[in-house]
Amino acid sequence: MSYIKENIDRINIEKNEIAESAGRKKNEVLLVAVTKTRTAEEINEAIDAGVTDIGENKVQEVMDKFDSVKPVRWHLIGHLQTNKVKYIIDKVNMIHSVDSLKLAEEINKRAVQHNLIMDILIQVNSAQEESKFGITTEETGELIHTILEKCPNIRIRGLMCIAPFDENTENVRIYFRQVKELYDQYGKQEHERLDFQYLSMGMSHDFGVAIEEGSNLIRVGTSIFGERDYSKKK
Ligand SMILES: *Cc1c(COP(=O)(O)O)cnc(C)c1O
Repeated sequence: MSYIKENIDRINIEKNEIAESAGRKKNEVLLVAVTKTRTAEEINEAIDAGVTDIGENKVQEVMDKFDSVKPVRWHLIGHLQTNKVKYIIDKVNMIHSVDSLKLAEEINKRAVQHNLIMDILIQVNSAQEESKFGITTEETGELIHTILEKCPNIRIRGLMCIAPFDENTENVRIYFRQVKELYDQYGKQEHERLDFQYLSMGMSHDFGVAIEEGSNLIRVGTSIFGERDYSKKK
C-alpha cells in the first residue's frame, strides 16, 4: 500500500473519531485533499484511495492539471485575482476564498456567460491577521447580503477560515469558534441562493480543533502527501 493511501485512511479514521467524540455524525466532515505542488499522478493516487474532492490554491495549477486528473470535485481554496476567474469558472465546483464584492461580481459575470451557478464560501479572517486575505467578522453579514442582492448566478454555501499558525492549536480555537458563530447566524437566513452546508476550517496541523469547533470540511495537504517542495520545477 502506498503512503498516500495509508495517510488518507488514517486521516479518515481520525476525522471521523474526532467528529463522533464531539457529538457529531461520524461521516459529517468532508476531506478535501490539498494538491498544490503535487503531480497529476500523485493526485490520481489519492483519488484511487477514495478522495472525492481536491483543493488547489493557484489558478495556474488547476489549468495545468485539469485534463490529467481523474473525475473529481475541484475546490479553489487560495486567493483569487479577478482577472483569473475566467480560467477556472467552468472547472471548479466551489470557490472558498471570496472576500470582496468585486471578486463576487466577476465570478457572477463569468457564471452568467457559462450559464452556470457557482457555489462559493465567504473567507473570514477572524484573527484579523494582516498577512491573510478574508474579511472581518463584522463585515460578513453585509457582504453576504450584497452578494445575494447583486449576484444572481452565485450560491453562497458557507464560510471558510484559515487560522493563524500556532504550534499550540488551542490558541486558535477561538478563531474557529467565532466563524462557527457566524455560520450558525447567517445560515439561518431564508434565501433561495443561500444554502449553508460547508464550514471550511482546519488544515493538517489544526483540523482536530477545527472539527471540535464545528468544521465540516477540512483542507489537508501535508498530512496526505508529505512536505511540499516549492523549489521543484516540473
Ligand atoms: C495549502 C493549504 C492548505 C493545506 O495545508 P497543509 O498544512 O498542507 O495541510 C489548506 N488550505 C489552504 C487555503 C491552503 O493554501
